[in-house]
Amino acid sequence: MNVLVCGGAGYIGSNMTAMLASQGHRPIVFDNLSKGHKEAVKGQELIEGDLADFDLLVKVLKEKKIDAVMHFAAFIEVGESVEKPLEFYRNNVCNTRTLLTAMEKTGVKKFVFSSSAAVYGMPKSVPITEDLPKEPINPYGETKWAVEQMCHFQSHTGKLNYAALRYFNAAGAGGNGTLGEDHKPESHLIPLVIAAAMGKREDIKIFGTDYPTPDGTCIRDYIHIEDLCSAHLLALEKLEKYNELVYNLGNGKGYSVRQVIETVKKVSGAFFKVVEALRRPGDPPVLTADAAKAIKELGWKVKYPQIEKIVETAWKWHSAHPNGYGK
Ligand code: UDP
Repeated sequence: MNVLVCGGAGYIGSNMTAMLASQGHRPIVFDNLSKGHKEAVKGQELIEGDLADFDLLVKVLKEKKIDAVMHFAAFIEVGESVEKPLEFYRNNVCNTRTLLTAMEKTGVKKFVFSSSAAVYGMPKSVPITEDLPKEPINPYGETKWAVEQMCHFQSHTGKLNYAALRYFNAAGAGGNGTLGEDHKPESHLIPLVIAAAMGKREDIKIFGTDYPTPDGTCIRDYIHIEDLCSAHLLALEKLEKYNELVYNLGNGKGYSVRQVIETVKKVSGAFFKVVEALRRPGDPPVLTADAAKAIKELGWKVKYPQIEKIVETAWKWHSAHPNGYGK
């Protein structure tokens, strides 16, 4: 298939692009490079463009004979979404509406959307199943839910077949270890702990040690980037026959902040300072996925269930790219 990968120069999008190519598809990356990295596209076709540009989207969808769109281009910083909600709605919602409109106009039906566990907000029970209430607690989560709703209604017109994939904590490096995580600024736990292990940060702060969890720190579900991407390929195939698919993508296993820090210490062999800090507002104590639906319906198999393996791939990439991409 000819697949337009919106946000294909970013962390998850670049891994998806590499996997699509390795599986015989033809990925075409569409990215404005506001956050992504040209170097992460690794020689695949790149169109530098903005999702607000309706005419360009229509032209690309037609001229490149696009069969399906995968959409990873979005702002992801929760804190920033609270400060700049209108920017998040513009980029994450309005631009996705433009993309879907261009797809409708050109008759491109298949759409795989990067959603998030943030749509559940503070879930009443874990592990989280897809049918739990969607009650986001920040503008970021609201934008993801708004797009899911837009896709839901559009799919009922018969003009869209979509899969909404709700990611838990994407982590690790893929593309044979060549495609890692390089966000600026970085806010995710694993790359930050690795930065501390590499001596690039003075310390790592644990945001809250008084949570109702066994060691007092938050528990998250870390899912390897290649496992995440393999589920997208399976969902894409299924869109041949189905118009609406929704799946949680996670390991089902949770690891606490302290466990992640210990794992980085073990994998890196480095010593670094760990500081116990105050809670970060809006962090639920435990977020783990029930991914039984994806496993059953997509035949999805997770290759990296262990946090050690996930951290090892991240550690290798960061060690080989101490300043991230391209420098
Ligand atoms: N966290 C932390 N210190 C940091 C960054 C994150 O203790 O410097 C914690 C954060 O509070 C959360 C977990 O690590 O409990 C995972 O955070 P991350 O931002 O990576 O992902 P989130 O689950 O918020 O999407």
